[in-house]
Amino acid sequence: MDHLPIFLDVKGRKVIVDGGSSIAARRVERALQAGAKVHVFADELDDEFRGLRDHPDLTHHTRAPELPDFVGAAVAYGATENEERDRALYEMANHSHVLANVADVTEYCDFITPSIIDRSPLVIAISSGGAAPIIARILRARIEAILPATYGKLAAFSGRLRERVMTKLKTAGARREFWESTIDGPVADKFLAGDEKAAKKQFLKELDAAALGQDIAQVGEVYLVGAGPGDPDLLTFRALHLMQRADVVLYDRLIGDGIINLVRRDAERIYVGKKPGNHALSQPEISDLLVKLAREGKRVLRLKGGDPFIFGRGGEELETLAEAGIPFQVIPGITAASGCASYAGIPLTHRDHAQACIFVTAHGQDGVLSLDWDTMARPGQTVAIYMGLGSLEFLMSEFIKRGVPADTPAAIVDNGTRPNQRVVKGTLADLYQKAEAAKLPGPALVIVGSVVELSDSLNWYKNFEADKHAMSLGASPDL
Ligand code: SAH
Repeated sequence: MDHLPIFLDVKGRKVIVDGGSSIAARRVERALQAGAKVHVFADELDDEFRGLRDHPDLTHHTRAPELPDFVGAAVAYGATENEERDRALYEMANHSHVLANVADVTEYCDFITPSIIDRSPLVIAISSGGAAPIIARILRARIEAILPATYGKLAAFSGRLRERVMTKLKTAGARREFWESTIDGPVADKFLAGDEKAAKKQFLKELDAAALGQDIAQVGEVYLVGAGPGDPDLLTFRALHLMQRADVVLYDRLIGDGIINLVRRDAERIYVGKKPGNHALSQPEISDLLVKLAREGKRVLRLKGGDPFIFGRGGEELETLAEAGIPFQVIPGITAASGCASYAGIPLTHRDHAQACIFVTAHGQDGVLSLDWDTMARPGQTVAIYMGLGSLEFLMSEFIKRGVPADTPAAIVDNGTRPNQRVVKGTLADLYQKAEAAKLPGPALVIVGSVVELSDSLNWYKNFEADKHAMSLGASPDL
């Protein structure tokens, strides 16, 4: 992070705004809303100062600020668009140890003014570190759209009940647990549905139970969540929601940093990653660990790449949980075949090409391939092969041996949906050589079928890293 995010308490403190423009007006407005004593310096005030001019906490000076003005100030804003005056403001502020921000002049900024979503007392601030204010603004608009106005009221409601919780529950841990289960449970449901009275009644009931040590969430639970193929934007809302609730997360190799960073910050993280042949934890050990953690009353997030029920051994883990009587829920994710196909512009079915699509894994129990070749070699279908990179040469030649034409299109999507996605296209006859030359790191999905041709015109996902890599190989970006 380039900056330290903080919310500053400026109630009753002096804030300096130099300038009378519309930008200055916005700075003044926000500072007044935060309860500051604002001193604005400008010969004239823009029309946007209408409604602010007579505010009791606003003092207007028709001159430039001077050094003594900075004594005791909390922050100083420059918004004159006059280079000399902006620099003078910055230097005086600096000299007086007052934080300064000059609009649009990065070198005169000690801090950034974020884009905000105001659901007071709930305030969301967004910053792109000054690199892309437009992105921050677009994001702000989106959050505005999805965040119900009542959220602010819910926050205020919680605020009013804080004292009671403080007196009833003695430890910070107990309070956090209580707030999480209430604010995300029936209390919030009732409140957001407009019934504040019922919400409060429920709240007090739950608080009494918590104070008596009757833990509302005594039994832990396991969330088996599909995290999709890599692009964090492909998570479901439900996945994100549970990632924010978990006390502990078990994740493996396919889960990238972009996704793991979305898990609640203070959740414990346990890596159970497996590389082929190099198991960090064996499958039974993982299942046992899930049971153990849930029995401790924890909300356990089992995060899986793609979809947990597609070549994810999700079923095996759940069988153990079911036997042990541990409650669980399963959240589907976008499976690699779906994500890779979309991001490579390869429709898995198409009326002119394929009426069916089959998903197979080239990794059998104990490394033995046990594929149903009669089914795989049928015409008019697409075959998506998981874990096929290691045995690619065998797979391609076996298709041909089983009578599939050697010029049937085939593709490998490596690191699908991620910034380093690469697609290698060829035919059954030459895909292996091309893949060798491209030195793909995996994970990779193999797609066999004439639908692969369609990607020539449907390929939409452009990513810089892959282009760079292709250039360094001397190939065209499309390989
Ligand atoms: N449950 C997962 C599959 C786990 S098996 C799912 O539904 O996607 C692991 C295999 O999935 C890898 O060997 C690879 O074949 C495929 N895979 C997973 N993520 C991938 C990605 N981002 N790009 C390409 N293939 C991927």
